[in-house]
Amino acid sequence: MTWDVVIAGAGPGGSTTAALLAGAGCRVLVLEKSEFPRFHVGESLLPVGLSVHARLGIEPDPQSHFFKRGAEFVCEATDRKAQFDFADTLPGPARHAWHVDRALFDTRLRDCAVDRGATVRHGVGVRDFTAHADGVEVETSAGVERARYFIDATGQSRLVARRRRAVVPYREFGRAAAFAHFTGLAPGAWDEIGPGDIRIMWVDDGWAWVIPLPGDRLSIGRVSRHGGMGPAGLRAYVENSPMLSRWTAGAERGPTHVVSNFSYRNDAAYGARYACVGDAACFLDPVFSSGVALAMTGAERTADRLLPALAAGGEGDPALMAPVDAHMKRGYAIFAALIDRFYNTRFVDNMIFGVPLDGAFKPGVISVLAGDVWRSDNRFADMLQRARRRAGSSERPGRGQVDPPAPAASVQ
Ligand SMILES: Cc1cc2nc3c(=O)[nH]c(=O)nc-3n(C[C@H](O)[C@H](O)[C@H](O)COP(=O)(O)OP(=O)(O)OC[C@H]3O[C@@H](n4cnc5c(N)ncnc54)[C@H](O)[C@@H]3O)c2cc1C
Repeated sequence: MTWDVVIAGAGPGGSTTAALLAGAGCRVLVLEKSEFPRFHVGESLLPVGLSVHARLGIEPDPQSHFFKRGAEFVCEATDRKAQFDFADTLPGPARHAWHVDRALFDTRLRDCAVDRGATVRHGVGVRDFTAHADGVEVETSAGVERARYFIDATGQSRLVARRRRAVVPYREFGRAAAFAHFTGLAPGAWDEIGPGDIRIMWVDDGWAWVIPLPGDRLSIGRVSRHGGMGPAGLRAYVENSPMLSRWTAGAERGPTHVVSNFSYRNDAAYGARYACVGDAACFLDPVFSSGVALAMTGAERTADRLLPALAAGGEGDPALMAPVDAHMKRGYAIFAALIDRFYNTRFVDNMIFGVPLDGAFKPGVISVLAGDVWRSDNRFADMLQRARRRAGSSERPGRGQVDPPAPAASVQ
């Protein structure tokens, strides 16, 4: 059988694309190498992605969703805190977000794709694809599939970027992360945790996240910009943090996961009969929790662009996805500028912990933190874009090293 679209990967990017295409009548095959449910990092979402959830009919569920009010930045060494509430953002998208159990959330997205008519096969890895004039051949661990179009949604595996040697790493961002779930928190911890902010802990060589999850769980992750972060580093950090050692006293720590080399862009994110969505197109340091929102936003744009092309037989145009790519690049560029400032300037001292932001400016900062980065009436977003262009950075082609070491992931 020839499919309209074969999609590699059933994470938020792949399943969103599949659900929207299949729901519009396309014959969609999703190939996912893992069995679901499976653990996945990336638990704190942004308001900007919630319109896609609504379009897919994904309702918050107490098993998988925990209310997210906003973000609190914390520097324990200097006893400083600064809270940003999504309710104070510029008018537009949702004024809250969710923290999610990714095993359950991703399974629900996958089920949504199936309910809308997509075929999903687990335990099948995609190895490569070849575009021809009249279609694509997708080489998998279970044989060859044929389709009119191919979507790479393989996340950090970034299949196409690797095959095309088009990975450009962002070396000035975080280089390694170690993270684990803590269950059964100390008495009183949830009173201190409060109404669902992600805590972004500002520490010497990077930062750490503290994300409340359903089921009396905290996700704690420690990111180092110099690499070398592992289970021992995470353990030492939690033990030495007054706040976290208090909250996790007596708690059970789950397996520690370790990842590295996770910030890059793909300079071949679309082409003849293919497009990359989500992390397969680009992934930035997770400090501002942009990954899932950008993956689902990009997936939605990709599906909406592909549908009329398939209907008109125009899906072979190599430039088909150029407008989607340009749109997503603006989002990635603004987040890259923000992350660059976070690591490489006094932005955190001056704008996060510094003088209270004036009434007009603060909603603009929160709007960017909420992921609402495509609007044209935000002075803060404009400033980030201008500063990025003036300073130059890894966003410029050629600055990174092509074909970097493979991303390493392990569980200990
Ligand atoms: C340390 C860290 C912390 C993060 N924290 C956050 C956060 O708080 N909030 C947030 O929004 N984002 C966060 N992210 C990012 C987030 O995890 C990703 O942006 C998001 O999961 C991207 O979705 P995706 O569908 O593109 O990829 P994924 O969710 O990774 O899904 C890709 C799927 O493809 C499958 N696959 C891979 N290769 C193949 C193959 N060859 N064949 C078939 N299937 C394949 C995988 O098994 C996987 O299921 C974080 C990332 C890191 C590294």
